[in-house]
Amino acid sequence: MTTQQQFADSRSLPPAIRPDDPRYAGLVSRGNRRFTGTPDEVCLATSTGDVVRAVQNAVTAGRQLAVRSGGHCFEGFVDDPAVRSLIDMSLMNRVEYDAELGAFMVEAGATLGEVYRKLYMGWRVTIPAGLFPDVGVGGHILGGGYGYLCRLHGLAVDHLHAVEVVVVNDAGQAESIVATRHPDDPHHDLWWAHTGGGGGNFGVVTRYWFRTPGSTGSTPADLLPRPPEQVLSFSIEWDWQTLDEQAFVTLIRNHGQWFESDAHPDSAYAGMYSELYLWRRSMGTITLEGQLPAGPGAQQLLDAHLEALSQNTVPPSARKVEVKPWLTYALEGSGMDTRQHNLKTKDSYQRRRLTDEQISVAYRYLTSENVPGPGGALILHSFGGRVNAVAPEATAVAQRDSVLKLFFVAGWEDTDDQTPHLAWVREFFRDVYADTGGVPVTGTASDGSYINMPDIDLDDPDWNTSGVPWHTLYYKGNYARLQRIKATYDPHDIFRHRLSIRPS
Ligand SMILES: Cc1cc2nc3c(=O)[nH]c(=O)nc-3n(C[C@H](O)[C@H](O)[C@H](O)COP(=O)(O)OP(=O)(O)OC[C@H]3O[C@@H](n4cnc5c(N)ncnc54)[C@H](O)[C@@H]3O)c2cc1C
Repeated sequence: MTTQQQFADSRSLPPAIRPDDPRYAGLVSRGNRRFTGTPDEVCLATSTGDVVRAVQNAVTAGRQLAVRSGGHCFEGFVDDPAVRSLIDMSLMNRVEYDAELGAFMVEAGATLGEVYRKLYMGWRVTIPAGLFPDVGVGGHILGGGYGYLCRLHGLAVDHLHAVEVVVVNDAGQAESIVATRHPDDPHHDLWWAHTGGGGGNFGVVTRYWFRTPGSTGSTPADLLPRPPEQVLSFSIEWDWQTLDEQAFVTLIRNHGQWFESDAHPDSAYAGMYSELYLWRRSMGTITLEGQLPAGPGAQQLLDAHLEALSQNTVPPSARKVEVKPWLTYALEGSGMDTRQHNLKTKDSYQRRRLTDEQISVAYRYLTSENVPGPGGALILHSFGGRVNAVAPEATAVAQRDSVLKLFFVAGWEDTDDQTPHLAWVREFFRDVYADTGGVPVTGTASDGSYINMPDIDLDDPDWNTSGVPWHTLYYKGNYARLQRIKATYDPHDIFRHRLSIRPS
């Protein structure tokens, strides 16, 4: 089904917040703490019509435009000094069932926490999206979206049914288009571009609709995955004092081997999701945080997993295991907020575990005392399961056979500490991927990076010496199609940033 709406210019523009307005300071610093924007105005949109008019106004005035939803971008794309007009989506946060489209409608300004609460309280369903409840749906879905339930139910975009986007056509006119998963939809390609193409590329998303492919009927509760009623939540600690290099390498090797042999969708562990936080030694501990559906056998599954991790190395020094309602767990969240800390991050997909040599590099960086403060970690996310049951070209997320996702992060409080922290995380990543030009080139072991964790260093020949361009690392073979879609729907390249898709 296709809907195309043009909004008449007769209605007034949404309120534009300018620097003399007391709301301005909060709106321009709503994103990553490392960056503060200086737009001439911020438009607080409350409807699709507002967005159409705000986009048209910026285009007519020749002002560079950006959009913010949850404000969790890891790079300064939204707060770039070139951006003169910012559209803020945070007031558009409705979540409801749309009987006409037969799918759940979520406005782009909703946070993941709002989505989880409303879908679960209303219909006992959910989408398998991210771990941090403050993240905005607007940017998150566009990049793919993985989280606690992805090994059971795939990525959030695997359940994307339709999207409403405000684009700027060849004639320079802003218009809104609803693009659906239906193969006969003339805007099917635009839908596909929103299943992993990344934020700030094609237009402003105003609404998403979710419905699991293959679900039938019109009973809303049957149209999306049902999360477990309760989860066994675990937090397991290893004391850094007990880990010499050999014990550390063995622990991380055991963890990697486990997920290499356990990434298939039908595994008894498909419901288990974990993050192994390899904090810098100055933090004192390494922690394994995660959950699996509670019920008979759950504790035994966890015990067997922990026993496998501890083979020939030191056992955990502390463990906390609790049964919690799924929603409680999901709303507690996990992650480091870009608004609380200065963060620089890097990311990679792993088809295989890290080699012992790579783990030794990690040991060297995590135990280094050349960096001030305790902030910094390598986090290993469990992956695979149903994420890998989808073909690489079925959505724009091309990485569909990884077993782990790695997240390198440096965090600091004081701006003066930026230089050593940036150097630490950049050199750490470069040295882990020393055999492939300092980046996770697609090959037997690694498979590029995730566009929702953007890293401008991938476009910097000082840090990427592989000869493989940044867009291949993010999109692999899907980039050419994304470029064609960009040329069709954003022919004037209105929506652009440092790592945006270039029109073909
Ligand atoms: C603490 C934290 C935890 C995270 N955890 C996870 C996780 O568990 N799983 C995961 O997959 N990812 C995770 N992420 C990454 C997250 O998915 C991305 O940062 C995502 O892009 C954030 O979206 P946002 O709307 O909050 O951010 P924003 O900063 O508002 O936007 C991010 C990008 O998307 C664009 N964008 C935003 N809204 C729109 C829109 N309506 N239309 C078009 N473009 C738009 C922006 O212009 C920008 O380029 C996490 C990030 C943080 C900071």
